Amino acid sequence: MSGSSLRTLEQVRMYSVPISDPRVSELITWYQGTLQRAIDVIWDNIEWKYRFPKVEKGGQVIAPSKFKVPYLPKDRSFKRRLRDYLLQDRPYAAHWVDAAIRTAYSVMESWRKRYLKGKARKVKPRVERRFARCKATLMKVDYDKKSIRITLRPGEHVEVSWNGRWFARRVEGWRVGEVILKDDRILIPFETAKVVDVKEVIGWDSNELSLDGFSPRVGFIKVDLRPLQSMKIVYERKKRIAQSKGLKYVYEKYNVRERNREKDFINKLASGLTKLFPNSVHVFEDLEKENLVSRREPKGRRKRNARTPWKLIQGKASERAVIERVSPKNTSRTCPRCGYVVKTRVGRVFRCPRCGLELDRQKVAAVNIYRRYLRMRGFPHSYDPDETKGELWVGVALRGRSPVIRASMKGALRAVKPREEGLISSYIKPNEA
Ligand SMILES: [Zn+2]
Repeated sequence: MSGSSLRTLEQVRMYSVPISDPRVSELITWYQGTLQRAIDVIWDNIEWKYRFPKVEKGGQVIAPSKFKVPYLPKDRSFKRRLRDYLLQDRPYAAHWVDAAIRTAYSVMESWRKRYLKGKARKVKPRVERRFARCKATLMKVDYDKKSIRITLRPGEHVEVSWNGRWFARRVEGWRVGEVILKDDRILIPFETAKVVDVKEVIGWDSNELSLDGFSPRVGFIKVDLRPLQSMKIVYERKKRIAQSKGLKYVYEKYNVRERNREKDFINKLASGLTKLFPNSVHVFEDLEKENLVSRREPKGRRKRNARTPWKLIQGKASERAVIERVSPKNTSRTCPRCGYVVKTRVGRVFRCPRCGLELDRQKVAAVNIYRRYLRMRGFPHSYDPDETKGELWVGVALRGRSPVIRASMKGALRAVKPREEGLISSYIKPNEA
């Protein structure tokens, strides 16, 4: 891609400030009850309608099956009645009722989505967690004092400040979004819109042990995910042992640790990628569509891939960089040189029977993802992958700040300057001649 284009990147970062105020806990108790009552009413007014989908298989229409689809009540008069009902005996500002109603609808919408995908049962959602989602109309933010005043009742407020907090400098000049109250803390989302001058497109193929990238400028990139995998394998074993001994507490402890270390890895990976490749559009496969494709994969592969938290990785990356998604269909079966689609995908190396191209399958996929995005954006492009450039190897240091070089690779690696301290170390792996 030549030239550059400007893209807006919406960024949200959530930070928490501890609070200790019995009035907040009282509010949360009331809010939880009100939210549940709103859900109850919406649930009772769902309209179930039959739908007859046509299922096609191999060009043939299979006997249509019918199933019931829920429609949430959304008309104005229903919403007004719901509001009036909840406004009776409310001890707090009326906007808190509106906040609860809005949250009730988002709970119901996400239940509906999951229900239609077959991931949720026909059971009314229950509010288990204690929280209260605020509305902008209930908040007054003083950016000079770095404080938020939240209205409980007309004339009664709770005040929270993030002045002097460790993250205060990170969110300098950012907007405060709608906060979430918990019993012991308040979660504040800080938002900003950054303009990114996009100069580069990188296609990323998501694999269980690596993230394989391609861009014409850098060439091929391999991000090593094995430390994440081995960490997870270790914890899976520990958890299995705890489970077999019936130690629920120990199991939970390992579970929390595993999640924290996973989060840590993903944070470092996302921030490392944006620092190593600034001004880039990162193109990933669309995971929603991937489910359909991966069903055809051998079982072992699916399981290993399931260990890598791709949704979390893409989500984290999208907070820091411009992310785009393309369909994963045939990305590792299409010849990047001549476009021929091979039938099988056996072995690590892709061999094109039409033009003779031989290339690592993961590299093939990365090139195809890169090009699919360019086509989508209207850049017809043919690019013969340049193998002479070697491959940029990137590792994420899980512990500490020193770059990681694994012994098995030492011989093949030549260190290039580690560009970002500790977070990510990068090396050029020369092609074996
Ligand atoms: Zn070919």
